[in-house]
Amino acid sequence: MPDSRSGDPGSKASKELIVPAGAPEQILDKTIIVTGTPGVGKTVLARLVTKQIRFQFLNLGELVKKEKLYRRFDRSRQSYVIDEQRLRKSLIDVFAARGEGGLVIETNWLGNFMPKKRGMIAVVVRLDPAILARRLKRRKWSKRKIWENVEAELIDLSLYESFKYLGPRRVYEVDATRKPPRQLLHEAMRLILAGRGWNGVTANWLERYDPIELSRKIL
Ligand code: ADP
Ligand code: MG
Repeated sequence: MPDSRSGDPGSKASKELIVPAGAPEQILDKTIIVTGTPGVGKTVLARLVTKQIRFQFLNLGELVKKEKLYRRFDRSRQSYVIDEQRLRKSLIDVFAARGEGGLVIETNWLGNFMPKKRGMIAVVVRLDPAILARRLKRRKWSKRKIWENVEAELIDLSLYESFKYLGPRRVYEVDATRKPPRQLLHEAMRLILAGRGWNGVTANWLERYDPIELSRKIL
């Protein structure tokens, strides 16, 4: 049976959720951070949101690479170690050039490199860790890197980082598991437009997975 709360396709709720293109007034001044563990579907969702509300899109990973805002490349992790101070300066410039809001920012993590801005909110994308592991395997990542990220997803790292950085009233959690991108878009938009912050509905993967068993299955 379609569950109207989850916005299943075809349910009453999902029809009501179709948001007209262009930004509704209450979000014009927003800077929307889309965050979460690598592989959960941030780029797909962030691009849909950007198009829907005609904001501009900034992928922090790409900005770091393009402007060489890293200190070095960590071979064992196969990733760049970002230069947080320089990234922060660069973002201050981006925000100053843009004025209020109008920006969707995709990032794998949140920290002091992100200058605080009025109207800033975060959408934390979650994904079933077993599905996440399959996606990261497809990226041909090392076992170590896959497990580090699956573990981060298991313990809600992105969610807590976002709470710490913005406080729960400016954080929205969406579970992308088995949801087509457009359904996820509608769910995220509905939460953002309601503007009430984190609703306490959380993924809680540790209730479903035993980390040791999962690591044996994955690795
Ligand atoms: P991230 O930006 O978080 O690393 P991506 O948006 O690049 O994640 O998505 C990772 C992979 O998962 C891509 O192959 C993408 O096509 C797929 N994907 C993303 N969102 C969904 C979704 N809602 N349903 C099914 N597959 C998805
Ligand atoms: Mg991405």
